[in-house]
Amino acid sequence: MYTCGPTVYDYAHIGNFRAFIFEDLLKRWLKHRGFKVTHVMNLTDVDDKTIKGSQSQHIPLKQYTDFYAKAFFEDAAALNIEPADVYPRATEHVPEMVILIETLVAKGFAYKGDDGSIYFAINKFPEYGKLSKIQVHDLKAGARVRVDEYAKEEAQDFALWKAWTPEDGDVYWETELAKGRPGWHIECSAMSMKYLGETFDIHCGGVDNMFPHHENEIAQSEAATGKPFVRYWLHNEHLLVEGKKMAKRFGNYYTFRDLQKKGCDPMAIRYLLLSTHYRQQFNFTFEGLEAAKSAVERLSNVMRRLQDANGKSGGEKIGQLINNVEKCFGDAMDDDLNVSVALASLFDFVRDVNNLLDTNAISKKEAIQILSLLTAFNEVLGVVAEVEKKESLPKEAEELIAKREEARKTKDWKTADALRQQLKAMGVIVEDTQQGVRWKIEKP
Ligand code: AMP
Ligand code: ZN
Repeated sequence: MYTCGPTVYDYAHIGNFRAFIFEDLLKRWLKHRGFKVTHVMNLTDVDDKTIKGSQSQHIPLKQYTDFYAKAFFEDAAALNIEPADVYPRATEHVPEMVILIETLVAKGFAYKGDDGSIYFAINKFPEYGKLSKIQVHDLKAGARVRVDEYAKEEAQDFALWKAWTPEDGDVYWETELAKGRPGWHIECSAMSMKYLGETFDIHCGGVDNMFPHHENEIAQSEAATGKPFVRYWLHNEHLLVEGKKMAKRFGNYYTFRDLQKKGCDPMAIRYLLLSTHYRQQFNFTFEGLEAAKSAVERLSNVMRRLQDANGKSGGEKIGQLINNVEKCFGDAMDDDLNVSVALASLFDFVRDVNNLLDTNAISKKEAIQILSLLTAFNEVLGVVAEVEKKESLPKEAEELIAKREEARKTKDWKTADALRQQLKAMGVIVEDTQQGVRWKIEKP
C-alpha cells in the first residue's frame, strides 16, 4: 500500500493524523487477517509550500524540511502509528521522476509549454477524470496550471516539471528536461511505482487528495506504463471543526503538539481519530476527546482487572461471548473497515466481562483467554499502550495502601476514605474488588 505522506512544511495537525491513523488501522487490520503488507509512505519535501516556508525562514530547504520530518516521526510514534517499510523523500527521487516525464513526452502525453515547463496534456488521456468523476470535455484545450493545488473547476494541463523561476531561489535541479523542479503529483507516481511496481493494491489519502493529486497520479502512471496503476483507492473524509474542514489555511487547527501541551492523552487522541468510519466526516471537540479517553480507560481497566482475575468458572457463557465478539468485530472490520460497529460490539463485550468480574465469575484460565482476545483487538486498535507494563508505586503510597487495609479490617471507613483521598491526591486510584484492593496510576 502507498499512502500520501506529510508535506513537511509545518507540524502535522490532527486532521492529517486522522488520515495517517486510518491508514494505520487499515494496515493493522489487513495484517490481523493474515495479509503481508508492504507499506510505502512518502515525504513531500519539495513543493510550493515547502519552498515558500524555507524562504520565509531564510534557511535551506533541506534544513527546513528535516526539522518537520523529525517532528512528524516523533508525533507518529507518540500516536502509536506503526512505521511504514519505506519513507521515500521526493528530493531523493528526482532521477526517477525525470525518466517518467521523459517517457510521457516520448509517448505524446506531455509537452513543453512556452514557459519552459513540461505539462501533461489531459485531453490525450481519455480516462482523465475517472477517479474524481469530473467532466473534462468542455475544457479549453491547452489551458495550463502550474501550481500544485487547484479546484476541480480549474482542471487543466498540469505541470510535471516546473522550469526555474526567480521565486524558486536556490531550489532547482539541472536535468535533461530543464533547470527546475518536479510538480507535486509526479513525485507520488514515481515513488509509488519505484517501490511497489507499476500496478499495486492499495492507495490511500484524504478526500482532498482525490482531485487533482490522485487523478493526476493515475493519468501520469497509466499513460506511461499502459497498465492499471492502483487496484483499490481508499479516501478518508475530513476531520472538521464546527462544520468546516480542519486546515492550516483556515487557521482552525490543532497540531498534535498543541493538544499534548494541553495535557491530552495521545491514546485518547488516537482513539478519537480512528473511532468514526473513515468515510464519514466528524467534528473535533474536547467533549469527544474526553469520551475517547473514557473508552480507552474502560478497555485498559478491564484488561488490568483480567490480569488479576481468579474466580469460579463462568461456564459456557464465556465461550459464547468470545465467539460472538470475534465474529461481530471481524465482520464489521471486514465490511469496509466499519470500526464504529466493531467498537460497539467490543464495548458490549467489555460490559459483559466486567459484570462477570463483579460476581467473581471468571476463572484464571478464562481470564487468560479473554485477555488474549482483547490483546489481539488492541493490536489492531493500538490504543492501550500501557497494559503490559507493570507500574511500581512510591514507598509512601504503598504505606498508605497498607494503612488503609488496616482501617478497612477494623471497619474504620472514615479513615479508609480519607486515605483513599490522600492517595488520589498523589495520583494513585485505589479500588476495592472481589479480588482485593487494586490500584492504578491516574493519567495526566
Ligand atoms: P498534507 O501534509 O497536506 O499533504 O496532508 C497529509 C494528509 O492529511 C493527506 O492525506 C490529506 O488528505 C490529509 N488531510 C488534510 N486535512 C485533513 C482533514 N482535515 N481531515 C482528514 N485528513 C486530512
Ligand atoms: Zn501523494
